[in-house]
Amino acid sequence: MDGMFEFVVFFLAISAIFMVLMGAAGLREQSYRAFALSLTGAALLLAGLFAAGWFRHASVMNIFIPILFWLFVAFIVVSLIPWFPNAVNTETADIEQFDERDHMFSRANLKFHPELGNLYHQLHPEKKAIDEEIWKLPELGEPGSKFYDRYVGSIADSAFNILNRSYAPLSDRPSIQPYADMPDGEKLMEAIRIAAFQFGAMDVGVTQLQPHHLYSSAGRQAHNWGEKVENDHRTAIVFVVPMSDVFIRHAPSLAVLLESSHCYVESAKVAHIVAEMLHRQGLSATAHVDGHYEVICAPLAEAAGLGHVGRMGIFMHRAYGPSVRLSVVTVDFDLQETTGSHEYMEYFCNICKKCADNCPSRAISQGEKPVSRGFVHWSVDQESCYTFWRKIGTDCAVCIRSCPFSKPDTLVHRVVRGYIRRNPINQRLALLGDDLFYGRKLRIPTRNVKWKNLLKDIAPNR
Ligand code: SF4
Ligand code: SF4
Repeated sequence: MDGMFEFVVFFLAISAIFMVLMGAAGLREQSYRAFALSLTGAALLLAGLFAAGWFRHASVMNIFIPILFWLFVAFIVVSLIPWFPNAVNTETADIEQFDERDHMFSRANLKFHPELGNLYHQLHPEKKAIDEEIWKLPELGEPGSKFYDRYVGSIADSAFNILNRSYAPLSDRPSIQPYADMPDGEKLMEAIRIAAFQFGAMDVGVTQLQPHHLYSSAGRQAHNWGEKVENDHRTAIVFVVPMSDVFIRHAPSLAVLLESSHCYVESAKVAHIVAEMLHRQGLSATAHVDGHYEVICAPLAEAAGLGHVGRMGIFMHRAYGPSVRLSVVTVDFDLQETTGSHEYMEYFCNICKKCADNCPSRAISQGEKPVSRGFVHWSVDQESCYTFWRKIGTDCAVCIRSCPFSKPDTLVHRVVRGYIRRNPINQRLALLGDDLFYGRKLRIPTRNVKWKNLLKDIAPNR
């Protein structure tokens, strides 16, 4: 028993502290279930501590303490084992490029360009019926959709409009060649990171640009619709802007559209500034921002080691999960690549399926990772997803809200992220905990949050 009692007491005390921190996180996230259960857990652990102290010399403790001791030791040992089964297949050689004209946003836009719509449906007659059904639905943020709000809704619309109007391709401007020599890569990258973090990004990655990162043909804008995407830049710089859980926790109501428009604007701002910086160094650079992408951001962010593409088919950042927006700058210059392996996210997606369970349009697969465009990857049924968006008038984000990786980047969630990086057993236990504390099924709001409450959350002292 030497030392066993102290170890058990120490473990119970640490667990109680962790539960209190969980409770504080639950309160901050307005998850009152997590708050109540965590405090109950902390109270039970403290009661266990007092009982252990009170009955320390009772004969029954000669049985209990060794059992608890070995249980806790086993838990710690198992928790620390760094092991995952087979490596994830990341073969990219046979990937077919994605045609941006097939993207749901591009197809939705064809409503305003009937001649392009006809052309597209001659190429894809199987998509005509569903596209025409979608065209009949209100645009996002327009009257007639479920979460329409004349005043607050105009924020998102205006933000997207400003973003679109601010787009000015650098390729249209004469090149600047102010320096006789090429820039120093390290100093340049340092300046890029300063700009990125100063103007709102929370992470930056660099990777080589590969052909499959590019769309095959442009599809979002009428002026270059169907043109082959030409971009021979060598390097892609990826910027990550996290979305605030203060908005995302109200998914799928209008608050999420506000936040995604905000983060699209923020990420575009960073990309434009960095592209301009590179231009001023005499380099050819392109900013890829919402509505004006030549590249697909998610696989670039994954290749840059910033996270992983998850079951919901979007990029999940290592700290902010899927609750992020991305922008990219491509440049004709070699920069030091960033790396990182986040395959543990892949394993977690295999067992979690919370996004699939909660998706109101059943657009997310419950099954194995499918093969399309010549490689194994997650993707969603974009027609079902987007039809739902148009009916409710927002970009939904229930999947993002439900994802355990979307929890705010606070101490307690960082500890859990570190825990699930190690092995599948930890992942199973963490998932059980997430289901218990935060619930398996989300409660979906049927109306917008009271705006004065949202204002209190974003500007508590004003
Ligand atoms: S909710 Fe679960 S399954 Fe879905 S993306 Fe997040 S971790 Fe993966
Ligand atoms: S955004 Fe909504 S509808 Fe689309 S996949 Fe996610 S949960 Fe489903």
